[in-house]
Amino acid sequence: MENQIAENIQQILNRIAIACRKVDRSPEEVKLLLATKTVSAERIKIALESGQTLIAENKVQELKEKYEDLKYTPHTNHFIGHLQTNKIKDILKYDVSCLQSVDRLDLAQKLHQRLLADNRTMDILIQVNTSKEESKFGASPDTVIELVEQVARFETLRVKGLMTIGILSAEPEKVRKCFQLLRGIQQQIISLAIPNVEMLELSMGMSGDMEIAIEEGATIIRVGTAIFGQRPTPDSFYWNETMDVN
Ligand SMILES: *Cc1c(COP(=O)(O)O)cnc(C)c1O
Repeated sequence: MENQIAENIQQILNRIAIACRKVDRSPEEVKLLLATKTVSAERIKIALESGQTLIAENKVQELKEKYEDLKYTPHTNHFIGHLQTNKIKDILKYDVSCLQSVDRLDLAQKLHQRLLADNRTMDILIQVNTSKEESKFGASPDTVIELVEQVARFETLRVKGLMTIGILSAEPEKVRKCFQLLRGIQQQIISLAIPNVEMLELSMGMSGDMEIAIEEGATIIRVGTAIFGQRPTPDSFYWNETMDVN
């Protein structure tokens, strides 16, 4: 089991290197984030001890449950799930350094108010629904720029870039279109030179589509299954807006 996780990570690092070589990028430009939903703290620790440092949960409940067990193993926490505003205080309490799933103004505004009260700042990514599937969270591509302009006024929030979940499709070209759309929006936002907006990060690509994402400019790939194995719960439990998540 222990060896398997380390071995799987090595395979992902190889896949990153091969994908980067193909498009003449340096593997150092691509950060590996471990998507740890449903994975026990014990198994996450094995991954961290094999040299990884960046992990992310989708649900506050899981973040909470694993917090004590992971506290003394150095790592950085991002958060990649849909976040209800009444859970904002929890992600601050449990040391999340980047919220990748900002998809609406009221979430950004309430996060800002909380950060102001605590006299601190936080990195965020804006999540975009590039597949336009009803079941996926994220701001619609037509409204992202306006959202970024509004969020940029909250001086406690450091807008570092964009995040998306590509369409689940057996056709690579459909998946690629999602990533190209995200990159296109990034380029548009960069050209607007909005104060307080950095836009260098593109968080896109998962176990099944990381190569395409890297080819299209991903700087953070989020990998779960290919490292920890199949999950017991379907992803709709985490991604479907109609369900009571978090
Ligand atoms: C679960 C999850 C991932 C990882 O997906 P895998 O297919 O298991 O690699 C990436 N991003 C988000 C937002 C997720 O919820």
